[in-house]
Amino acid sequence: MSSVDDRRDVREGYRNGGATRSLNDSLEGEIQAFLIDEDQLYTYDDLTKVNPVTPATVLKCLQVRYSMKVFYTHAGCTLVALNPFQPIPDLYSLDVMKEYHYAHQPQEFKPHIFIVAEEAYRNVRGQLEPVNQSLVVSGESGAGKTWTSRCLMKYYATVASVSVVKSQDTVERIERRVLDSNPVMEAFGNACTLRNNNSSRFGKYIQLQLDRCQLLVGASVQTYLLEKTRVACQTANERNFHIFYQASEQSLLTYMNSDVFSFFPSLCCCNTLQILAGILQLGNVSFSSSADESQPCHLDRAAELLCVPAEELQTCLRVRTLKAGKQSVLKPCSQAECSVRRDCLAKVIYAQLFEWLVTFINNSICADKSTWCNFIGVLDVYGFECFQTNNLEQLCINYANEKLQQHFVAHYLRAQQEEYVSEGLQWSFVKYQDNQSCLDLLEGSPISVFSLLNEESRLNRASDAKTFRVRLEKELCDNANISWDKFSKVPHFTVAHYAGKVGYQIEGMAEKNKDPVPPELISLLQKSNNQLLHQIFKDNETESQIKKGPGKTTVVSKFKNSLETLMKILHFTTPHYTRCIKPNPECKPLTFKKEEVIIQLEACGIVETIHISAAGFPIRKKILSHCAFTIQCCWLRYQRGRRHTHRQSATLIQAAVRSWLVRNRVRRWNRAAGVIQSTWRKWRLLLKSLAEAELDDAKDLVEEDTPALTPVIRERGSVQLSTIPEPVTVQGWPMGLALASAPSMTVSLTATGFQKMMSVIASLNLPSRRGEYQVKTNQYTEELASIRAQPKGSVKLHCQRSPLLYADRQPDLKSDVTGFNEILLEKTL
Ligand code: ADP
Repeated sequence: MSSVDDRRDVREGYRNGGATRSLNDSLEGEIQAFLIDEDQLYTYDDLTKVNPVTPATVLKCLQVRYSMKVFYTHAGCTLVALNPFQPIPDLYSLDVMKEYHYAHQPQEFKPHIFIVAEEAYRNVRGQLEPVNQSLVVSGESGAGKTWTSRCLMKYYATVASVSVVKSQDTVERIERRVLDSNPVMEAFGNACTLRNNNSSRFGKYIQLQLDRCQLLVGASVQTYLLEKTRVACQTANERNFHIFYQASEQSLLTYMNSDVFSFFPSLCCCNTLQILAGILQLGNVSFSSSADESQPCHLDRAAELLCVPAEELQTCLRVRTLKAGKQSVLKPCSQAECSVRRDCLAKVIYAQLFEWLVTFINNSICADKSTWCNFIGVLDVYGFECFQTNNLEQLCINYANEKLQQHFVAHYLRAQQEEYVSEGLQWSFVKYQDNQSCLDLLEGSPISVFSLLNEESRLNRASDAKTFRVRLEKELCDNANISWDKFSKVPHFTVAHYAGKVGYQIEGMAEKNKDPVPPELISLLQKSNNQLLHQIFKDNETESQIKKGPGKTTVVSKFKNSLETLMKILHFTTPHYTRCIKPNPECKPLTFKKEEVIIQLEACGIVETIHISAAGFPIRKKILSHCAFTIQCCWLRYQRGRRHTHRQSATLIQAAVRSWLVRNRVRRWNRAAGVIQSTWRKWRLLLKSLAEAELDDAKDLVEEDTPALTPVIRERGSVQLSTIPEPVTVQGWPMGLALASAPSMTVSLTATGFQKMMSVIASLNLPSRRGEYQVKTNQYTEELASIRAQPKGSVKLHCQRSPLLYADRQPDLKSDVTGFNEILLEKTL
């Protein structure tokens, strides 16, 4: 069955209800009940909160959100980004960036790619291990990976800007260079395809380098598997790399003028133009049949542009040099072989040129290792691919996706488990059926698809597709992830990837894996008078240096090595996943096609992720039979219900305890306030009567020795103590607390007031201090006092401990008052 059929199958399955409709009636009922409330569906910021979690409910939520122009949704720790296919005003503006950057809790904002960016940035700032971060952006062609990567880079170029610290000049140079390097690379590595007008034909990992203060000081780019076959041939209605259409001198000059090319020697630029033109001219070279060897193949223009002798170029393309011991044998090539050699020449020149460009960009944007200490990496990788015909490129791409999926699941499960543990929930994780067996099939040792393919490619003979298919079947028949359609006439093998089955065509695979470049061609290019061409090939292995036998590098082994390096980086960084989704294949604005979306959600593992997250334990439906799946669904619902109940109970208990504590505290306060009120009332009554008695007494005294009243006191109508020249300031604390809520207050006491206060003091049995005041009890009761001395300055009352502590003590005139004994009277000068 072809891969497209597989896709159709999934679509049909979806249309017919597929697994969803096989769920039991009650689940179906729940789904209907959930979907009925359509107005509310856009409110689901996180797909794992959707209940019940089924492809139908998840899809509907995304669809409703999309129609409301909400393009980002969380799916646990993954961000789902739906491509709007039209510019959305203000979605990525500077103000929005700042909003997310300065937010106290950005996670509480609407889902956005800036949340992911900011989270990674804060992780670096927090210096929690692993400090370095990786932002993995995946999705199929046209889903929005390049756009998302650009957004991330712009975000960091803004928030991690050096402008605040260093001169504007430095800022411009570093950030501009990092951002400018992108369009240059896109011009050489992107192309217009049937699925995307600006499709990246290579994978890249952009490392943004941050210094000790988390400021962007440089960047570097690592690229993966450029689709160089595009140089020589493209599928109908697809195009070559953008640069071939842009490479007018004018447009290249535009690139030159950007900062990244500021010290790009103009000679290099002219050389690049010339080489590109040479590649195009090579495409026009045609060959006659070997019977008609004398026919010229019109390659003079190509030779001129590539700065190589035309005759030598012709010989290299038409004649193969075979080595037989120390002797060289020349063998004319067939017409088809000549075309293969011509294409091979074009591809190798372009691939080397691209590699040189990446190195050049890296040299101009990479910071010295001593100046940066942490990094945030943005990985923009090709998504899972499944075409009508799939070859080595798709095998490599899907293998890369298997590796990333394995990493994602391991990371995701760990995060989930940690979350449950932190919540104190006891969850047993059933053994997760991961994609290890598929990876074993592809890369395992000693026998796997790759090892057999490498063996086949290293043989000194042309590969035979049928023989190789038989070998694969014989060696790998034990692995359940590989199968063969017995009735297919085309030799192929089908791999059951985590995202679906893909059939790979065997014809031409071993040859592609060899990626042979005739040594004569390399030697010719090394002799080129084009300085750049000469430079980029000068270190290439020539015939004599090329290793023979099993050590020979193949496309697969090179790709596997670079992927291993990437996986190592990912393992030592904190990953953040963003899954870009293409809502319709026509790239139409705001058009949501469910059947397209569900395939992508499955392919990037989102449906699975949501299940894992919602259920509390990992499970895969693809390996499960129909029946088992139904049981699992029930189990999932049961688990989810339990988890929900657990959480609810925990929340209820917490709420109950908290409200009980609050109620208790309020009750105590009320009681204390009541005691204070009644005590205070009693005190006031008591003091009133005491003061009245005291005043009666004081009046007598006033009459006895009467100095003249000062005008101030007279004005206030106060009764003057014999020697007080002016009112005394008394600061009361915490008496003020009882009087009013003010923590401290200052009152000017007239003689009467002062007397009252002193009466209070006396009634508390306070000793007079250092003879400054003479406190005497008056005739009314032993515990009352009247002032005979003359205090100077202000008097401050304060309490060492809160009076609330004594609120339940009753003043007792008959005995010493204990509670308020802590009140001190001190004189402040
Ligand atoms: P990919 O790199 O996955 O192949 P791109 O990032 O090139 O896809 O996106 C394809 C096209 O979709 C872009 O050229 C752009 O027009 C559009 N696009 C992608 N993401 C957005 C977005 N967030 N807002 C507006 N348009 C977008």
